[in-house]
Amino acid sequence: MDFTFTPEQEELARTVRAFAGRELAPRSREWDRTSEFPRDTWRQMGELGLLGLRIPAAYGGVEADFVMLGIAMEETARGDFSCTYGIQLAALAGEIIGKNGSPEVCRQFLTPVASGEAVMALALTEPSAGSDAAALQCRARRDGAEWVITGEKSGISLGMAADAAIVFARTGVERGSAKDRRGRSTSKGVSAFVVPLSTPGVARSALRDMGSHAVGRAVISFDDVRVPASHLIGEEGSGFQQVMRGFDYNRVAIALACLGTAQVSLEETMAYVRERTTFGRPLATYEGITFPIAEAATQLEAARLFSYRALWLADRGQPHTKEAAMVKWWAPKIAAETVHQCLLLHGHYGYTDELPFERRLRDVIGLEIGDGSAEIMKIIVARELMGRETLPY
Ligand SMILES: Cc1cc2nc3c(=O)[nH]c(=O)nc-3n(C[C@H](O)[C@H](O)[C@H](O)COP(=O)(O)OP(=O)(O)OC[C@H]3O[C@@H](n4cnc5c(N)ncnc54)[C@H](O)[C@@H]3O)c2cc1C
Repeated sequence: MDFTFTPEQEELARTVRAFAGRELAPRSREWDRTSEFPRDTWRQMGELGLLGLRIPAAYGGVEADFVMLGIAMEETARGDFSCTYGIQLAALAGEIIGKNGSPEVCRQFLTPVASGEAVMALALTEPSAGSDAAALQCRARRDGAEWVITGEKSGISLGMAADAAIVFARTGVERGSAKDRRGRSTSKGVSAFVVPLSTPGVARSALRDMGSHAVGRAVISFDDVRVPASHLIGEEGSGFQQVMRGFDYNRVAIALACLGTAQVSLEETMAYVRERTTFGRPLATYEGITFPIAEAATQLEAARLFSYRALWLADRGQPHTKEAAMVKWWAPKIAAETVHQCLLLHGHYGYTDELPFERRLRDVIGLEIGDGSAEIMKIIVARELMGRETLPY
């Protein structure tokens, strides 16, 4: 057993921690207040290589391992939680397009994502298909040398800022029903397309979220949107499997972002309770104060080790679906509880937006839902432990 990072991983952790402290933390409150997308910061993240971690080197990426992706997420989240969306969505684009797109499509779309010049969203969820993503209704039909996409996507992170999106649409409807013989939604016949969001027929409207205002989410509708045939990513009808394969490690990356936010909150709180006095003594001398801190520290450390083990498995090409689902329900929950506790331990100051706790709490709650809710994660864990007969469908 070896619980240490490699020198290269240590170096990345040091670099990103310094960057997050210097460039992200001081601006995080302003981004939250204005809901302004920080495009200049995206370029800085691109220069640091944070947006190319899972993009092939031929297209400007750095081809980092999954543990390094986790480190980047954890350390970035210490400065600003919203910026971690850029890292994970660029990594997903790198996986999905890099492994399945033509060289021309990779060059066109991945190179500017790696540099931070362009932003790529991932559009899977629809107004009536979230947890049951296989029930999606968006359709694409072939018309000569083009695909024509029609449908609506909802809740898409970075949806207003993105220059392009990976869009999942049903292409197999002509040949069969969207439901199987038992009436269940089927993922068969779903394809992935890369769609420039400036294409005629695309319309977007922003959602007003409780947190992560800097990246925001949007409803994106596609009304007979035409893309070249080469924008089909991978095999026709295999889009759903492609994205699901990508989601396992991404869940761990999200868990580590939540843990990074909670950890920095806990460190700030430990410093505060040593300084702040009540009844003539520092808060840190009361067990009512130190016990919740000790409990939070224990849980964060356990979840962090578990997360890195899951990414270590991913780097070795070993199954990690169960581990990814476990940390995806657990880490955002304990992170939200920890940040809430830290807010309370700062008394009335903690309740203001002068301090970062209320913002971090709003941000972290989003990823108790995004990329699969706790209930869906537990369904996956149960399936991995006890078999498919435990599935609700
Ligand atoms: C911050 C954030 C970012 C997001 N970013 C993106 C993005 O970039 N791209 C994208 O495509 N989507 C994105 N989403 C959408 C997200 O993937 C969906 O919200 C999520 O999959 C849940 O789907 P739903 O909202 O439709 O809830 P539903 O599927 O309607 O579920 C509602 C509730 O019922 C529970 N539930 C559902 N089925 C069961 C069951 N069988 N047993 C027990 N409980 C169940 C769920 O856990 C949930 O609590 C984002 C969401 C959030 C909050």
